[in-house]
Amino acid sequence: MIMKAAVMTGVGRPLEILAVDLAEPKANEVLVKIVATGVCHSDLNALNDEKTPTPTILGHEGAGIVAAVGPNVSKVKVGDKVALSWVPYCGTCEFCVTGAVHLCESAFGPMFAGTLLDGTCRLSKEGEKVYHNSLLSTFAEFAVVPEMSCVKLPDEMPLAQASLIGCGVATGYGAAVHAAKVTPGSTVAVFGIGGVGVNAIQGARIAGASKIIACDVKPANLEIAKKFGATHTVNVAEDNVEAVLKALTNGFGVHFAIDCSGHTGATETAWKSVRKGGTVVAVGAFNPTMSLSIPAGGFHRVGKILKGSFYGDTQPFRDFPAIAQLYLDGKFMLDELVLDRINLDDINKAFDAFHDCSCINVGRSVIELSEQVAANVIDEYEEFEVVS
Ligand SMILES: [Zn+2]
Ligand SMILES: [Zn+2]
Repeated sequence: MIMKAAVMTGVGRPLEILAVDLAEPKANEVLVKIVATGVCHSDLNALNDEKTPTPTILGHEGAGIVAAVGPNVSKVKVGDKVALSWVPYCGTCEFCVTGAVHLCESAFGPMFAGTLLDGTCRLSKEGEKVYHNSLLSTFAEFAVVPEMSCVKLPDEMPLAQASLIGCGVATGYGAAVHAAKVTPGSTVAVFGIGGVGVNAIQGARIAGASKIIACDVKPANLEIAKKFGATHTVNVAEDNVEAVLKALTNGFGVHFAIDCSGHTGATETAWKSVRKGGTVVAVGAFNPTMSLSIPAGGFHRVGKILKGSFYGDTQPFRDFPAIAQLYLDGKFMLDELVLDRINLDDINKAFDAFHDCSCINVGRSVIELSEQVAANVIDEYEEFEVVS
């Protein structure tokens, strides 16, 4: 099938709207008609990364409609609305069988190689290979993705909002609900109010926290944090965070601190700011060359827990439908995260916005594409359909 896609042709260059060939889905793969896709800061990082294989189609936050399925696909059927996860998992390795599917290693080799799980590509242009990104490549009219990336959502779920679930939303929500395991009535500090931080606030709110304290250097981010459920804010650049958090918690410190900032200094402050028996979750991506410095006395007699979290300990097939249902029930804010809706042809405007310091860094520009699947595509892929 020939489709329109925004192609990364070289490091740092504007994406080019080109016709790209997409092969049929193989076993355990799904052809998805992309209807909405968020433009994430990680896409900008990939665009500027010398290690990104090119040409490639970026985009790892997507939602759409299943257009065809390859052999052995059982989780979705043609016509299902799906949100995509960029962390597919095997389901059989030592990590998966104990429930830690977010730590499955099956996706990372293919992810860095720019292929699908079997090490090959379905994308090409005039016979030349075009690489996948995050096993999804959603900046296109269609994508062939692993079945394990494809999570069915309720039919009434709007797809622009659904497209955001699979990245910062799930990571932040999961960091609070699954990694920290925030309890009703507890106090929670969230460090770093961006695309992950606001959703950690939402997760803490839904988990029933009594106080949610947003900590950031930008006053604008702190104002946004209040809209998403923060009960208090601390400007890290101006105030002594540890002192403020202790003052808000009868001198004990917070029960949970969730550091979404990726700065080791914030994690160190978080460690000092949790009470005895409290938990710090570090979900932001640190520079791997950095080291943490925390007083060792917090472990033995004080009983604090320091936990790393990748992808918010998310289990996509458990958490994506749960988040969608919370949204549909009016309990989870996703509309507010859709900052802008643009066409695929204008995708470079969304990348330009990352360089504009006045732009809000909470939420996304969402690319919207037609929901219509051309009749010739249906015919072309019919033999692969499994209609239950
Ligand atoms: Zn993302
Ligand atoms: Zn696995």
